[in-house]
Amino acid sequence: MDCLFCKIIKREIPATIQYEDDHMIAFNDINPKAPIHLLIVPKKHICTLNDVTEQDIELVGRLVKTASTLAEQFNIAQSGYRTVFNCNDDGGQEVYHIHLHLLGGKKL
Ligand code: AMP
Ligand code: ZN
Repeated sequence: MDCLFCKIIKREIPATIQYEDDHMIAFNDINPKAPIHLLIVPKKHICTLNDVTEQDIELVGRLVKTASTLAEQFNIAQSGYRTVFNCNDDGGQEVYHIHLHLLGGKKL
């Protein structure tokens, strides 16, 4: 499948990987909008938030939980951070494989 994030998951394209488990991977955004800008990406290819099914609810919960764990590890849990899912064109989605942005390290 011609998907950028699937290729990163398969190590066909390099990325600075910060976390990985059976369900997801997290890596640095290549064009960071904040001092800390990670993308938390499920290994399952789901195109948009609109395509999340009942079966994916636990997975999406895991993504959110990992965001707070990484925020702790990157020392932005107390200062604060922003988590974002962009959906479709008006939402500014560029990569059609869902991902949770984790941004912090400055006042957003
Ligand atoms: P979105 O606009 O929500 O789809 O976010 C896509 C994000 O992926 C953007 O913030 C891009 O900077 C980021 N991005 C695009 N290509 C890469 C890449 N090869 N490695 C890491 N991040 C990327
Ligand atoms: Zn994909």
